[in-house]
Amino acid sequence: SLLSQALRTIRSGRPISELPRVRIRELQDVLDVLPDISRHMDELNTRSGQLAQERDQYADLSFRDALTGVYNRRALEETMERIPARTPLALLMLDLDFFKNYNDRFGHQAGDAALKAVAQATQKALLRNSDRIFRYGGEEFTTILAGGGQYSAMTVAQRILEEVAALNLPHPDSQTGRLTVSIGIAHRPSGDDQDICEVLAHADQALYKAKTSGRNRIALFGE
Ligand code: GH3
Ligand code: MG
Ligand code: MG
Repeated sequence: SLLSQALRTIRSGRPISELPRVRIRELQDVLDVLPDISRHMDELNTRSGQLAQERDQYADLSFRDALTGVYNRRALEETMERIPARTPLALLMLDLDFFKNYNDRFGHQAGDAALKAVAQATQKALLRNSDRIFRYGGEEFTTILAGGGQYSAMTVAQRILEEVAALNLPHPDSQTGRLTVSIGIAHRPSGDDQDICEVLAHADQALYKAKTSGRNRIALFGE
């Protein structure tokens, strides 16, 4: 408090020589450590910036699927909650064909590698930044195409089939001899008050249709 009194004296314009010598020495000591304090503050700032970055990375990790790196079920639920009602969207539900046999024949590690490859192939087929892929569970993935019509969703789904075909993963227990996927699509046009959970259920029904009508194909809900 003596030092702050001394500082106030200087600020008020009174000559420094009025201060006792001991105060002046103390002020000099404070001046000497200022660069150290400033360096310390810089380090703290840098560290808190790093912490904020780490916090963001962990937040993102908690929304990622550990095996495939795509968004997880938690992220899907969060995203579904945030999508405004009555906005147009298309939802794709994708499931690997005869995947149980794939695991049985090649083992779970090969199965894991195939799941990862299919997730990446699907990601590659999405061309817009806003289009996201989520691992719904097991060997099922969901894609939300915000603002998308059903024909652009068909185009995306077709591209996914092509990217998966390009992986060229042998699957002797599948009728094509290669690992394939089936895709169900449901669409909510602009202004429609359907809940997004309903759209998801419809995409799932369409997927079932794609499965029963032969697999390695796309089915549209309601057609
Ligand atoms: P369908 O063509 O009708 O979809 O047949 P399917 O064999 O793909 O379907 P089913 O539901 O009978 O089997 C799904 C398989 O997916 C069984 C399970 O072992 C496998 N699976 C699910 N999650 C994982 C995973 O994380 N890793 C591996 N390796 N396999 C998984
Ligand atoms: Mg399945
Ligand atoms: Mg399957």
